[in-house]
Amino acid sequence: MDLFEHQAKELFAAYGIPVPRGVVAHTADEARAAAVELAGRVVVKAQVKTGGRGKAGGVKLADDAADAYQKATEILGMDIKGHTVHKVLIEEASAIAEEYYFSFLLDRANRTFLAICSAAGGMDIEEVAHTAPEKVAKIAISPLDGVDRAKAREIAEAGGLPANALEGAAELIEKLWCAFVDEDATLVEVNPMILSADGQVKALDGKVTLDDNAHFRQADHERFVDVAAEDPLEARAKEKGLNYVKLDGSVGIIGNGAGLVMSTLDVVAYAGEGFAGSPRPANFLDIGGGASAEVMANGLEIILSDPSVRSVFVNVFGGITACDAVADGVVSAFRLLEGRGEAVSRPLVVRLDGNNAELGRRILAQAALPGVELVDTMDDAARRAADLAAVGV
Ligand code: GDP
Ligand code: MN
Repeated sequence: MDLFEHQAKELFAAYGIPVPRGVVAHTADEARAAAVELAGRVVVKAQVKTGGRGKAGGVKLADDAADAYQKATEILGMDIKGHTVHKVLIEEASAIAEEYYFSFLLDRANRTFLAICSAAGGMDIEEVAHTAPEKVAKIAISPLDGVDRAKAREIAEAGGLPANALEGAAELIEKLWCAFVDEDATLVEVNPMILSADGQVKALDGKVTLDDNAHFRQADHERFVDVAAEDPLEARAKEKGLNYVKLDGSVGIIGNGAGLVMSTLDVVAYAGEGFAGSPRPANFLDIGGGASAEVMANGLEIILSDPSVRSVFVNVFGGITACDAVADGVVSAFRLLEGRGEAVSRPLVVRLDGNNAELGRRILAQAALPGVELVDTMDDAARRAADLAAVGV
């Protein structure tokens, strides 16, 4: 999960990293009120999860509250690289003496952590990295040794920071390492890290990526989730504990096991090419090993709430959870959904294979659920589901 700048700075502040005082505003009126509260010159900054806001006109200095209102009016609603600006950060303006670049990141290619530091920070860092790579220090960090004050100072020196900034930069870098490790981040970037006119080193911008795989031990990261930007179906699926990813096709997919579901997506996409409108998968949904009636009902409900779904392919390979249990799950799911007033209204193609497949098929055949068809092989089932989803049928 990527954080907004204001969230990154909130996190930095919790680790004692100096950041300018700031207030988030969703309207120009709120921006004016924030500027009154902060008093003096402020900077109005678009909050979007993309870089290059400065160059796109999304970062503007304002002389007073009235000016902050004006600048917020200009920035709110702006489109920056496909991201609409819904909120701005109003910050006390900093007097900048110098701009540096600093980041810690997970360097997957080299299987290590990396510190990147440069005295030539600011909006042109990409250009600097390209034309004068010697100005950008890259230092591998051993996860066992980490970063103490001495190491932090060594990194700042390697980046070419001047003597008067070294102490402050080392302190900031050491704290940033703590944040990086404790919060399970894969990236913390400060560009610019500034030396202010009065000699302070501060984080003037912040970019943080948190590792979603660490969610189990970082429950409080929930506060950073941008609920408004989440796909509503994915959000509902997450609440129900389902592994669901919305895609843009019309064939709903349910399977057990991530590998099976992924190959089902491929097979359906391939089969779809032979039909009108080239139907494609509408989602990824792995119901996992259990496949109880409730999980099946929840899965079907989510998939059928997607108006672009025209058919559903249930692809199950019975293992520890045998096919008869899955078939019972489908039958109960139909009843459950009917009870909820959401009777299944679109055709379902079911392929059962593996443990107790024969028994599972018999259960479904006897139940004679409306719109449910049994198909023996994965390829045939994919073709049938694509056919049912084909446009104009
Ligand atoms: P980005 O373009 O998305 O990376 O946004 P930044 O937050 O890095 O801001 C871009 C540039 O705006 C910085 O490199 C600074 O030069 C300038 N800037 C940001 N905040 C201030 C401020 O408080 N005072 C001054 N003078 N310039 C600022
Ligand atoms: Mn920046």
